[in-house]
Amino acid sequence: MAHKFSFYNTLKRDVEEFIPREDGKVSMYTCGPTVYHFAHIGNIRTYIMQDALIKALEYCGYDVKRVMNITDVGHLSSDADTGEDKMLAGAKREHKTVMEIADFYTKAFFKDFDAVGNKRPDVIEPATNCIPEFIHMVETLLEKGYAYVAGGNVYFDTSKLEDYYVFSSAIEKEQLAVGVRDDVEEDTAKKNKTDFVLWFTKSKFEDQALKWDSPWGVGYPGWHIECSCISMKHLGEFIDIHCGGVDNIFPHHTNEIAQSESYLGHEWCKYWFHSNHLNDRAGKMSKSKGAVLTVSVLQEKGYDPLVYRFFCLQSHYRKPLEFSFEVLDNTVTAYNNLVKKVEALIASDETLKALSEKCKQDKASEAAEATDVAQVLEAIRNSADVDQNVKKEFEDKFADAVSNDLNTSMAITLLYDVLKADTNAATKLALVDSFDKVLSLDLIGHALADDSADIDPELEVYIKDAIERRAAAKKAKDFATADAIRDELLAKGVEIKDTREGVKWTLI
Ligand SMILES: [Zn+2]
Repeated sequence: MAHKFSFYNTLKRDVEEFIPREDGKVSMYTCGPTVYHFAHIGNIRTYIMQDALIKALEYCGYDVKRVMNITDVGHLSSDADTGEDKMLAGAKREHKTVMEIADFYTKAFFKDFDAVGNKRPDVIEPATNCIPEFIHMVETLLEKGYAYVAGGNVYFDTSKLEDYYVFSSAIEKEQLAVGVRDDVEEDTAKKNKTDFVLWFTKSKFEDQALKWDSPWGVGYPGWHIECSCISMKHLGEFIDIHCGGVDNIFPHHTNEIAQSESYLGHEWCKYWFHSNHLNDRAGKMSKSKGAVLTVSVLQEKGYDPLVYRFFCLQSHYRKPLEFSFEVLDNTVTAYNNLVKKVEALIASDETLKALSEKCKQDKASEAAEATDVAQVLEAIRNSADVDQNVKKEFEDKFADAVSNDLNTSMAITLLYDVLKADTNAATKLALVDSFDKVLSLDLIGHALADDSADIDPELEVYIKDAIERRAAAKKAKDFATADAIRDELLAKGVEIKDTREGVKWTLI
């Protein structure tokens, strides 16, 4: 039986209890990146909060299947189908082909996506893989009378819907109806201002690199259609949760609903999860203000990507978050303090201490069968010293926090509470490990990798030097000296072994 879970459903403009279609199972769709440029840290914030949502659902007993698209065609510089194709602009900017651009930025995206501790979606589908599906949906929408051909393009006719602005309140709807996108150039082929392109033909861009045959001429799909099709391809006619940034609410998600529900003839997705912007002091993060601040750039500057994750988790996903290096530096300090606390807990438990020391030494000596973090985690999970009552009490509180509109800052407060709690080290560590299923801060892994608790650097230099001297002696067939060096090391508590990968050493 899954834990009760609530979050803010944009469609209902309220925090709502989440009830999936199938008990305990969640089908989730998340809009992926447009791979024409780097994803800045604000984009990555959205993916961190989605990752926290997925892991929180899993923590509460749900089984989540997640699908994400990669937009490698059809996204114009304005979301209202005007301006330049983003992929084409990227290719021109960098004197590469569109496919080269897509490949390069997809890889760059996932490097940063992974680095902040996110779990990859179960299905990742580039839009260019699904052209027949797009054409089929557009054909059906034309047959059903929800679409029309004009000026070479196929448009969705928003006037056919009773309620197009599904995400807006009555007042917002009035305002939107009056001033829809007055700031953008008007496409004269559209019947209604809010109509959007389902399929572009070559008439739009002479030099469009990616184009396919279609019943309406050679062309390419609109941006919105890809999410509807890719979601249905992998998750069927219904999805439980659709995620994105607040930027996506209008027009992208509004249009996704319009075309999906017109195509299907029934409701498509009940719950919409949107995370807010990351701002810097100059305002909203964007790619147009010079150099793009990415997770990789933070890493080059010496910041651990998980510190950035920690920074994001400390604030609520529905609030705008302001980024500054000052705040990030404070987060580094807080993160390192947590690692130190975890390290002290490990050191206070005899079994774990021995195991972690062996883990560090094996790593330092590159032992073939190194004791790894997984073995230490295994020992933490199986420790007989854990007070199961205390553990359950904290785990329940943690589940309450993350299931209450994804209150990640409360979840982190609970982590601090655990570290301060009046219970033994084994219980605390078991809880740090348990909470990490959602937080993914890898505090235990960092505690085990922390150099400050490593072997004395002087001893390390000495060991390396002794191993070299012994190798030289052996090469010169001076076995007496080689043996003497081995004994000398042994006297200092260092055991060496000759392996196929070279000489390995361990402290005994
Ligand atoms: Zn989308």
